Amino acid sequence: MSPYTIAIDGPSGTGKSSTAKEIARLLGIDYLDTGAMYRSLSLLGLEAGVKPGDEDALARLADGMELLFPSLGVVVLDGRDVSRDIRSAEVSARVSTDCAVASVRTALVARQRAYAQGRSCILDGRDVGTVVFPDARFKFYVDCAPEVRAHRRVEELKAMGHAADFSEVLANLVERDRLDSTRAVGPLRKADDAVVVDTSSVTFQEQVQIILDHVRKGLPSI
Ligand code: C5P
Repeated sequence: MSPYTIAIDGPSGTGKSSTAKEIARLLGIDYLDTGAMYRSLSLLGLEAGVKPGDEDALARLADGMELLFPSLGVVVLDGRDVSRDIRSAEVSARVSTDCAVASVRTALVARQRAYAQGRSCILDGRDVGTVVFPDARFKFYVDCAPEVRAHRRVEELKAMGHAADFSEVLANLVERDRLDSTRAVGPLRKADDAVVVDTSSVTFQEQVQIILDHVRKGLPSI
């Protein structure tokens, strides 16, 4: 079978990453968390004392950083495992400003396309179905009520050992959605041909199943 791409976009905290990871595992394909790439850059910016959104400094960091995804959910940045650090409140607070910089997006979109070259994979993000892979074989737009998303994110953060306050997490999600959907380059929006999956009142397993059913319908041989 020729390689195929599954794009999953949607606002923050809709469960895209967990869903994409599970689908990758079930289908035996690769997974790329594009948000982890932007978060890794923001972590580098934070550590280097770069002002959020500083175009020249961020573009230099984006060109120089080495990012590896050795296994599902693990992110290795310049040789160290940053899977936990990229989820910190400090990174979450600046990532939507850093990733709105045009040259940053150009650099990371190029890496996303290179990663998917010649392999079947699932990618989640904000602009995967609209900008990175407008011709993706499967496109989904996952949405969910903000309060439900904030509640789920608090549980996830606690499980990772981060302190998490519901109102702060909710405010951060809403603000990131606003910045992500109003930026000039690669804004968050539903691709015209994406299937909408509302996860407000479905379980995680149901959410995975809905997407899996669509993919299996399109690829009966898998
Ligand atoms: O998916 P996650 O919430 O970890 O993404 C972190 C941030 O990275 C998002 O709020 C968004 O600002 C940015 N992002 C993006 N484009 C993507 C993926 C993430 O702008 N494809």
